[in-house]
Amino acid sequence: MYPAETRSPPGTRLPFLSVSATQHDVFPNSRFVCRLQNALPPENRNGIGLEFFCTGGQNATMKSRWVRYSLLATILGLVVYLALGNGFRTFEAFCPFGGVESLWGLFTNGQYACALGALNLSILLAVLALVLIAKKAFCSWACPVGFIGELLARLGGRVWRRRPKVPTVWNDRLKLLRYVVLVLALVFTAKTSELVLRGFDPYFLIFSGFGHGSSGWISVVVLGLTMVGMFLVPMFFCRYLCPLGAVFDPLSRIGWMRIRREAAHCNGCGRCDRACLHAIPVQKLTTITHRDCTNCLECVDACDAPGPALSISFGPARAGAVAGAAPETLPAGTPFRIPRFVLPLLVVAALFGGYEMRTAFARPTTVHTFAPGTGSMAAFVVEGVKCHGTANLFSSLYEDTPGILKIETTASERTAVFTYDPKVITLDDIRAIMDAPIPFEDGSTSKVFTCLSVEPR
Ligand code: SF4
Ligand code: SF4
Repeated sequence: MYPAETRSPPGTRLPFLSVSATQHDVFPNSRFVCRLQNALPPENRNGIGLEFFCTGGQNATMKSRWVRYSLLATILGLVVYLALGNGFRTFEAFCPFGGVESLWGLFTNGQYACALGALNLSILLAVLALVLIAKKAFCSWACPVGFIGELLARLGGRVWRRRPKVPTVWNDRLKLLRYVVLVLALVFTAKTSELVLRGFDPYFLIFSGFGHGSSGWISVVVLGLTMVGMFLVPMFFCRYLCPLGAVFDPLSRIGWMRIRREAAHCNGCGRCDRACLHAIPVQKLTTITHRDCTNCLECVDACDAPGPALSISFGPARAGAVAGAAPETLPAGTPFRIPRFVLPLLVVAALFGGYEMRTAFARPTTVHTFAPGTGSMAAFVVEGVKCHGTANLFSSLYEDTPGILKIETTASERTAVFTYDPKVITLDDIRAIMDAPIPFEDGSTSKVFTCLSVEPR
């Protein structure tokens, strides 16, 4: 029986033969990594020229991936729930990139563009704070598109014996595309107040089922190519095309929570490099400040070196430790390790915090005043009010309706707040108008809006 952790004195780590063993009789749920170290100085050879080096396997009992996948599956389920028309908000209302796209309209005319709303902005601000603390943790712990991309990458990894590898120089060049997508999205949204790139956005296309705003067969081809890309190159969309990733980049570089590699404990096996879907050369780095690191913890899970060699730490980057140096020689002020469960807690806190902050940024999508004066107020939740265009169409139904004084719509919340004169028109009358089929110029009629609920104010 060997103690839970024994090691030779600093400076005596030499080439070894590595074996793994399970010692259920000591700690039932812990896998121990035991190494037979050879070529040690005579005083360390225990009389037989060999010494065991055993530590409890840090990764065997809790794989971070399953915690992460559970959180991602929950978020994915919620998005699907909203996408099926449940709840009072559209699935787009929760997208932080919508917050980026809404900035220009808010600064210039105080209005959100298209289907965007306060929740997009408040979630964006919360997620930016999260990036400052935990780098791109949002991408690997909360983003449904990142989740789908990761599943496709893992499927691709099983299918391809040798996955096509993008040469480093091209990998770096292609990453510039995400800045191009960001600029295009911002320019088009600023010019038109519509989400023009919606028709090419996997998040929108997948969850809306190529709904309102998609570009027909072009969208089908673009989404198909993106999926094939994600199957061939791990995290293809995240690496090369995601404009939100481009927004995160500068903050991600300085994000406080980083993966740290203790060179003194590392045996150079390269498992961490192979585990990283973003192709970050973990094995060559000491502190992972790389802008693409999502703190997914895959590299930490993959590393079996005792010590541990990889951990997540909180603190500033420090100059690289000398490979092979004993941990005791690490510089003063070394950042301290933090438990892994902190990451999902931070992500959940950011999402809830963003949700709770939404009222601070509330602005209507459209405001139509038909007559001066004050009256009673009622808020309708209306299926079909999705964006500027549909909100304008909705309000136009009441243009010549006596008793309607004002309508304020908020597309992201699917709400229309009516100010009306109850002596002239009742809530049932208002509801009947929105529920009726609408006649179009070509003579056809179609039911566009459906009242889901009404609440007097
Ligand atoms: S950090 Fe761990 S996984 Fe990476 S090379 Fe070192 S020992 Fe191997
Ligand atoms: S470096 Fe590690 S934590 Fe960062 S993205 Fe790669 S595998 Fe995930």
